[in-house]
Amino acid sequence: MGRALSDGRLVIASHNPGKLREIAELLEPHGIEAAPARDFGLSEPEENGRSFAENAAIKALAAALGAGLPALADDSGLVVPALGGRPGIHSARWAGPEKSFERAMERVERALSGEDDRSAYFVCALCLAWPDGHREIFEGRVDGRLVWPPRGQQGFGYDPIFEPEGHSLTFGEMEPARKHAMSHRARAFAKLLAEAVEGP
Ligand code: IMP
Repeated sequence: MGRALSDGRLVIASHNPGKLREIAELLEPHGIEAAPARDFGLSEPEENGRSFAENAAIKALAAALGAGLPALADDSGLVVPALGGRPGIHSARWAGPEKSFERAMERVERALSGEDDRSAYFVCALCLAWPDGHREIFEGRVDGRLVWPPRGQQGFGYDPIFEPEGHSLTFGEMEPARKHAMSHRARAFAKLLAEAVEGP
């Protein structure tokens, strides 16, 4: 059992409004107020880690030290074993400066052409960090396979080409609540809530 969070404010080291809202809703029943890093004038550090966990730790630690409060960061992406694990921690970068996930999905499909193994998984690493440098990591993963052409308008990123194991719909075709019940992010959060947050 690692260190537990007590009631109070937790800095969320993300500038993504969707992620911030989701995290605030998850923590609110536990008496924890999610405070955006932006409220503390914190900028985003360079993500130069070699794993999802390292990148989440870089972001969480920078926010905890900058704000003087415990902080939470998440880092996530799509891992394709037949591509040696790519795009992996570079998932967002594959969309280019214009953040085109159509382009990123096409790039994955081109790289995969002729491959029989179309398995893939999403990973989410959450890091809780304290101003004294202590860190806790929680990881979630959801396995599935890649389909082509992309299907569905829900979700974001690579969702339209990812069909989770045991389902015939892509994440892009699923209602958000259904995706959130099984996603890599939900699984990482379930671990965080079970291990680091006392019950409501
Ligand atoms: P970040 O952790 O917000 O930087 O996300 C990294 C990238 O991974 C995103 O831009 C997406 O490309 C991809 N990604 C992470 N989670 C998901 C998801 O649930 N669905 C689709 N793409 C995702």
